Amino acid sequence: MTDTSKNQILLHYKDEYDKFRGATNPPIYQSSLFIQETSSNHIEDEGYVYTRISNPTTAVAEEKLAALENGERALCFSSGMGAISSGIMHFIQKDSHVICIETAYGPVRNFLVNYLKKFGVEITFVTGNNLEEIEHAMTEQTSLVYLESPSSFIYTVQDLSEVAKMCKKRGIATIVDNSYATPIFQNPLDYGIDLVVHSASKFLGGHSDILGGVLIGRAEIVDPMIEGERALFGAVMDPHQAWLLIRGMRTLDLRLMKHQETALTVAKFLEQQKKVARVFYLGLESHPQYELGKKQLSGTSSLISIVLDYPEEIINQFIGKLHYFQHGVSWGGYESLIAKVTVDKTQPGVPDNLLRIHVGLEDADLLINDLKQALEIL
Ligand SMILES: *Cc1c(COP(=O)(O)O)cnc(C)c1O
Repeated sequence: MTDTSKNQILLHYKDEYDKFRGATNPPIYQSSLFIQETSSNHIEDEGYVYTRISNPTTAVAEEKLAALENGERALCFSSGMGAISSGIMHFIQKDSHVICIETAYGPVRNFLVNYLKKFGVEITFVTGNNLEEIEHAMTEQTSLVYLESPSSFIYTVQDLSEVAKMCKKRGIATIVDNSYATPIFQNPLDYGIDLVVHSASKFLGGHSDILGGVLIGRAEIVDPMIEGERALFGAVMDPHQAWLLIRGMRTLDLRLMKHQETALTVAKFLEQQKKVARVFYLGLESHPQYELGKKQLSGTSSLISIVLDYPEEIINQFIGKLHYFQHGVSWGGYESLIAKVTVDKTQPGVPDNLLRIHVGLEDADLLINDLKQALEIL
C-alpha cells in the first residue's frame, strides 16, 4: 500500500497533526469569518477570508476528494444538486444545447428541461447506449453532454472514454454523475471526462446524516468556480457537514465492499424467484451492459431494481411486510431501503412497476429471509 492508495487517502491524507495540535481528526472551523492582516489581503499562509469562499475543514474534505478522483481540484457544496446545477451552469450560455441521458436523476432532468427553459436552453435526451445516437444529437449549439454512469433506476452505463473523445474533438464539455460508483469503483476523469459530480448524501457520507455534494476536475475548470458559481449561488458546504463527510469517508472502501458483496447475493436470489418479473443489477450477467460495466468499473455497489407485475395495492402489501427494508427514497446509507420508482414519458427505458432496492450493511442471510417471507404474499 502506498501513501496515495485510496485506502490511505480515506484514512490519513491531510492528517496535519502539527497544524491541528495533534488532533487525529481535523477540528471543525465553525467560523464564517477569518481575520486578515491589515497589511495584506491574506491571513497566515492559506488566505482564508470567508467560509462561502473557503474554510479549512471543508478544504480537508476537498483535498481528499480531489486525490480520490485523480483530479486537481474539488469543491464541496451544500447538496448534490448544488454541485450539479453549478457545474451545468458553468458550461452553458443563453441558447445552449445540452445532451443528457434519459435515465439521469429526476431533479437534474427537471433543472435542464423546466428551469433552463427560460434561458432558451434546449435539451435532447439520449439512451446513452450507443455513440452514433449521441453524435447524431449534436448541433452547432451543443456545449455540454451530461452523463450519469451507471444511471438511476436501471444502471445504464455509457462508454466514458469514447464519449469524452468525441466531445473533446468538438469542444463540447462532459460531466459525469459518479454517485453510484464513487471514486472507489470508477474514476471518470481518467477516461477524459471534464467534470465529475457526486451527491455526498449517498455513499460518500454513508450514514444518512448529511446532505452534500462535490464536483472535481482540472484546476482551469474548477478554480474559477470558487468565486464564480459556488460563491455566487452560495450553495457552499458548511464546516460541520464537511467534518461529518470526512468521518463518513474513512470507511467508504469497507462499506462499498460489503454493499457490493451482499447486493450480488441478494440480486442472485431475486433472479431465481418466479414472482420477480425482472431484476436489474449491474453485477449480474443478465444486465444488458454487464461487459461494459466490467470494463469501466471495478465494483457494482448496492442498487438493485426489480419489476413486480402485480397491482399497486399488492406491491404496497409486499413493501409493508418487509422488516429490514424501510420504505424510503434515498440510498447509500448503512440501512436497507426499498422505493417505488415513478417514471415519466421522457424515460422510455424505465419499465413500470419498478422497485429500487438499496442493500445496506445488514448481513445477506437476514435480508434474503426478509425478502423470502414478504414474497410469500404475492
Ligand atoms: C441523490 C442524487 C443526487 C442529488 O443529490 P442531493 O445531495 O440529494 O442533492 C444526484 N445524483 C444522483 C444519482 C442521486 O442519487
